[in-house]
Amino acid sequence: MKRDIALIRGDGIGPEIVGQAKLVLDRVAALYGHEFNYTDVDMGGNAIDKWGDPLPQEMLDKCLASDSVLLGAVGGPKWNGVPGPMRPEKGLLRLRAGMGVYSNNRPAKIWPQLASASPLKQEIVDKGIDFIIVRELIGGIYFGKHETVTENGEPVAIDELRYSESEIRRIGRIGFETARKRNHKLCSVEKSNVLDSSRLWKKVMHELAEEYPDVELSDMLVDNCAMQIVKDPSQFDVIVTENMFGDILSDEASMITGSIGMIPSSSLGDGTRGLYEPIHGSAPDIAGKDIANPIGTILAAAMMLRFSFDMPQEADCIENAVSKVLDSGYRTGDILPTDAHHCSLVGCTEMGRLIIENLKKG
Ligand code: NAD
Repeated sequence: MKRDIALIRGDGIGPEIVGQAKLVLDRVAALYGHEFNYTDVDMGGNAIDKWGDPLPQEMLDKCLASDSVLLGAVGGPKWNGVPGPMRPEKGLLRLRAGMGVYSNNRPAKIWPQLASASPLKQEIVDKGIDFIIVRELIGGIYFGKHETVTENGEPVAIDELRYSESEIRRIGRIGFETARKRNHKLCSVEKSNVLDSSRLWKKVMHELAEEYPDVELSDMLVDNCAMQIVKDPSQFDVIVTENMFGDILSDEASMITGSIGMIPSSSLGDGTRGLYEPIHGSAPDIAGKDIANPIGTILAAAMMLRFSFDMPQEADCIENAVSKVLDSGYRTGDILPTDAHHCSLVGCTEMGRLIIENLKKG
């Protein structure tokens, strides 16, 4: 099969980790007889430096012309002083909106080889951690009107939080459909004791539940959910929530599984074209040192094969290779346990090479 992939290497460790993911994809293409064509896309700080814009229209167009987009990460202290609309993160928001990817799916799963890296007590980890957060991605407070006005002689900042019924319904449907493919349990997270947008959210989720009698729907307030994720994460199968709550809860969920360097995410809209990326940022503190963990990006590439290209065996092939390398005790610094006597410390390039060496056609 022929597929066009837009590669956004981005800033900081982005080029290093995307470089390894591309090599993995090349090997998978050779093993399974596919042809992956890549188009480089500038986004983030490097695009500001080069084009004066974090995502020029021409770059967005390249993404829209591709079958899917693989992204490293953008941003860094160099661009902290850049004014709001020109910040690297604005490129990412514009990309998500431009691609119409309204659903971000982030697995929170513990790799048995890394169970000791979880900050939770062993007895909680032993009950199992394996859930997905489905987060609404292009609505809510991040996309509302932002303004700072002067009232009574002082600045007052206003951020608008709005959701339409149709925006809630389409993300709700993804939540129910995802639960249907898993253990048929959906937890809808909101703040309906305070917010109107959450009351509408809850109403729509319960209307949808009538169409999905095989899925057990529960409601949870976001503050309680933040507690339950650390108290008993085994209770969750699929969580569906709005943009800002999902942003915060998914970072919390990633923390309990060990390293943020291991976790991929996918963002999808109505079609098959998706945006795939690791959940971490550009890690400027370790950029250029060849010590970053490329696994989150490599697993994001595997998700791309599974969800956008309908290549489940190829995705399994990558995930199995990652598992074998972890079984053999190879670790980047971020996932190296303190009692590291069974483990060998490797850098970004070597971790990529080991994963490629373990890619075997199933
Ligand atoms: P970060 O995720 O970049 O780093 C947090 C910590 O985790 C750092 O100590 C870093 O070294 C470590 N880390 C992250 N990824 C790692 C990896 N693959 N391997 C090993 N260690 C890893 O978060 P931050 O420091 O808050 O943000 C840095 C920059 O990234 C900021 O400019 C921020 O805006 C941006 N950011 C971008 C994205 C994105 O592009 N999607 C997401 C989050 C943050």
